[in-house]
Amino acid sequence: MEANAHIQDSPYSLISNWDNFRWPNFTQAEMACRHCGVSYHWPEFMNRLQKARTLAARPFRIHSAHRCSLHNARVGGAPLSQHLKLAADIGLKGHEPRALYQACRDAGFTGFGFYQTFLHIDLGPRRSWYGNTKAKQLWQIY
Ligand SMILES: [Zn+2]
Repeated sequence: MEANAHIQDSPYSLISNWDNFRWPNFTQAEMACRHCGVSYHWPEFMNRLQKARTLAARPFRIHSAHRCSLHNARVGGAPLSQHLKLAADIGLKGHEPRALYQACRDAGFTGFGFYQTFLHIDLGPRRSWYGNTKAKQLWQIY
């Protein structure tokens, strides 16, 4: 299996690609497209997400992870969004935002979008952005 292969078989066949032992704090369902349930198999992404979760030592609520192209367009995602492969929007509720960011950075994530209610992380080019002016104010408090 190619590391970045987009798996489009039946959902049942996907279960064998999920490793509960390596990624105990995440389910395949919460990383799948919210619209159609398609998954994107990227073990290295999940290894790092689990590392960030372990470092943060708090539950991660995943608002959005993989998006198929149709769902990405519907939610107004960027045409080349990392969500088309795999990215994670992690809810800020229950987190000290700066600590969450540091855990994700220490786990090796390279792309960061700072929003009012979540932190976007991905393994794309090293870059960061603010969702809007209010998000910038929130994140600059720290
Ligand atoms: Zn979809």
